[in-house]
Amino acid sequence: MYKGINPLWLVLLVGLMPAFSWAQAVGGYAAGCQFDARALPASGTGFHVIRSSRERFYGQPTLINYLQALGKKVEQAQLPPMLVADIAMKRGGPFAYGHRSHQTGLDADIWLRTPPTQTSPRQLENVPAVDMVNHSLYILSPQFKDQQRQLIALAAQDPRVSRIFVHPLIKQAMCNTYGKAPWLNRLRPWFGHSSHFHVRLHCPPGDKHCEPQAKVAPGTGCGSELASWIKDKSGAISSGGARKPYRPVLPAQCQRWVAQKP
Ligand SMILES: [Zn+2]
Repeated sequence: MYKGINPLWLVLLVGLMPAFSWAQAVGGYAAGCQFDARALPASGTGFHVIRSSRERFYGQPTLINYLQALGKKVEQAQLPPMLVADIAMKRGGPFAYGHRSHQTGLDADIWLRTPPTQTSPRQLENVPAVDMVNHSLYILSPQFKDQQRQLIALAAQDPRVSRIFVHPLIKQAMCNTYGKAPWLNRLRPWFGHSSHFHVRLHCPPGDKHCEPQAKVAPGTGCGSELASWIKDKSGAISSGGARKPYRPVLPAQCQRWVAQKP
């Protein structure tokens, strides 16, 4: 006799559902989108999200997992909680203003300053940036201390990291402290990264439509390449004025997806 579906099966099925995921990074870091993004919680072990009202706290599961794991390492090292700023929008795609990448849920900005003494949602919304470079003297400011070095080192050691963008003077300081550490080549000198560093993860394995960036050259990158960045200060001077909004051509899968409201 037919007795219908055993409710136990339903319970089991619903229990298994979160294990399935359609998460995917599509396209390039500066022309793409993301599917089934996860939100980084506002606070957790070793981190706080800042400027949450922008709703740029969505990333691919691998990045959210990376940030939460980094938070745990930060706490284990007895460093103050890190401040996580822009990740990506829920569907990814280009921001209305600000940086060009952060489109596929694989990029995240982490601030170098210590958190404010109070971490209420309002404080975390309005926390000002602290520049770690004295641009007129072209030296690191006294705020750049060992704890900043340790944070960058912890962030760079994870093999999921493709590269981390830091100001050339910060890369130089890391080279001076960590000598020949194999992860130093993931630290890429780039102007504009003096109050935060920008972590970029590799395409997650299996994301067929995710466009990887070229591998970084072997070696620490502490030699002549860094020297040329330090010498060339032209890019260090802010051009001032608003840049035109960046509107790249997105992959076909992204075009309608990004245009829809969340
Ligand atoms: Zn960034």
